[in-house]
Amino acid sequence: MNERARKKFFKREQKEPAASELAAGIMKGDKTILSRGITLIESNAQRHQEKTQEMLKLLLPHSGHAVRIGITGVPGAGKSTFIEEFGSMLCGRGFKTAVLAVDPSSTVNGGSILGDKTRMESLSRHPDAFIRPSPSGGTLGGVHRKTRESMIACEAAGYDIILVETVGVGQSEVMVRSMVDFFMLLAITGAGDELQGMKKGIMELADAIIVNKADGDNRPKAIKTMREYRQILHFLQPATPGWETKTLACSALTGDGIQEIWEMIEAFVNDTKASGIFDRRRSRQVKEWMLSMIKEKLEASFFQAEEVKRLMPEMERQATAGELTVPAAVDRLFQAFWEK
Ligand code: GDP
Repeated sequence: MNERARKKFFKREQKEPAASELAAGIMKGDKTILSRGITLIESNAQRHQEKTQEMLKLLLPHSGHAVRIGITGVPGAGKSTFIEEFGSMLCGRGFKTAVLAVDPSSTVNGGSILGDKTRMESLSRHPDAFIRPSPSGGTLGGVHRKTRESMIACEAAGYDIILVETVGVGQSEVMVRSMVDFFMLLAITGAGDELQGMKKGIMELADAIIVNKADGDNRPKAIKTMREYRQILHFLQPATPGWETKTLACSALTGDGIQEIWEMIEAFVNDTKASGIFDRRRSRQVKEWMLSMIKEKLEASFFQAEEVKRLMPEMERQATAGELTVPAAVDRLFQAFWEK
């Protein structure tokens, strides 16, 4: 390292607050420090990850009290308009609200369907709101960790409600469902066959289906769509045992029906807390997250092992040539992995 680089390095080191300073600032509710804490969480650098864990250890005892709500919907369904309206209503009722985003497109190519930066401008200026765009780059597993840890930081900063937004494509819905208490699908009326196009799997993840844009001339159509969803739901498994998946209509533009959505979520929280389902889901989510992290780490360490990399081409050759069965080739690879 030359002199200039060394100076730059030490300057950067000096500017980086310690984990304990970050944690203290976050717990005071300082939004700038919360942002810096989340930037640390989102970093893939090894030394940042160690510091992140140190910070989270201090924050964890102060987390867990928020209501975690997932929101999904196709692009154009009105998610950002809805969150702006819903979030402002929540802040108006005295709830500090944080918005996190999971955007699968940004994990694959750094592009973004949610296009966070210019969205929810008025909510982002509210003193009781905090909005964080989705972390870009890395694996879906990496995004999972970052979002869950950011959630801990927001909760320790005193946010009462965490909204996790995602877009209706790929695996991201399953991931967001696995980290929230309540999951809702924001739907819209389309050409008429939209319900057939709607994936049954996503409907089965939802605790509520909200038909948005129920305003003006579109309102009767939106109500009709809502009723159609209600009928289909009779044939599906509810996402939360003991809670019948609700259907509602709203207008994020006029604010119609927004209040009722919060009342429904309050009822959900009360019901599931009373029945024990709320806490059981949270415990299960932690266990599932742990298991998925173990799997991911195992997979990465297997494929990165020198012995495996060296033996892989030969095993592939022998298996494709029919000289070795696939299970036998896999066993040989594992032997090489364990013996490394
Ligand atoms: P997102 O891609 O799901 O985040 O959708 P946006 O919030 O960006 O909304 C897409 C378009 O739908 C925008 O032009 C919004 O103004 C419009 N929009 C959103 N909500 C409503 C609503 O409740 N009623 C009407 N009429 N338009 C809406």
